[in-house]
Amino acid sequence: MLLYAYRRYVFTLAVLLTYFLYAMLLTGRGMTQPHFMVDQTASNVKQASGLSLRKVSDFLAGRKYVVLTFDDGPYGYGVDEQIMATLQKHHARAMFFLVCSHINDANRDVLGKLEGAGHLIGNHSYDHLKLATLTSRPELQHEIDGCSQRLAQLTGRRPYYFRPPFGMTSPLVTQLAQAAGMKQLLWNANSQDSWMTQPEQILHWSLEQTEDQSVLLLHEKPATAAVLDDLLTRLEQRGFQFVLPDQLSDNTAIN
Ligand SMILES: [Zn+2]
Repeated sequence: MLLYAYRRYVFTLAVLLTYFLYAMLLTGRGMTQPHFMVDQTASNVKQASGLSLRKVSDFLAGRKYVVLTFDDGPYGYGVDEQIMATLQKHHARAMFFLVCSHINDANRDVLGKLEGAGHLIGNHSYDHLKLATLTSRPELQHEIDGCSQRLAQLTGRRPYYFRPPFGMTSPLVTQLAQAAGMKQLLWNANSQDSWMTQPEQILHWSLEQTEDQSVLLLHEKPATAAVLDDLLTRLEQRGFQFVLPDQLSDNTAIN
């Protein structure tokens, strides 16, 4: 009788173990493919099914997710390419929020390189002004929709994401961004690289602030490019995977 109970116990354990291994395998295999599909005609993004299974498998495997976002580019002088090379080394895709007035004849080829490498280009306004303080609707429309039009001219597609400069938004800015077919993407982790100049400080703040499901604010600038390899290595050691915004299952930074 005791032997029977023991066998039943082992059998139940084996079934449970098989289920979890299968769940991990299934979801782990999915990690090479993005967990979302971009519906380009409807300009929206559909979440793939199976998220709860993914959560179980993430928990067991210690996996965490972070979206890397780089603002204020293109920077030029090889900095964009340096960032892209480091991302490629870590098999990471990222979001680049470009400022339209920063695009010129010398750096416009950066857009094609970003898209070619699988990164997403977002709209960070035309002139990087404090949009919440602008009262002229045509001026705001130029800053928001005008930049989307410019990006569409250069890449063949309008951006899905908008990030207001300095993270300063307003109901009107939100409304105009949505009317231009974009979601607003702010951040919930800050590398502080907009004002810190020492790579060690940027590394410290990035690691300090990044948690599971974080959207990390970085900038296209030399100090950030210099520390990026170290940063991504340290995040990988902590179990982080680098994903695009719609691959987050729980996202408070998007509206
Ligand atoms: Zn900015």
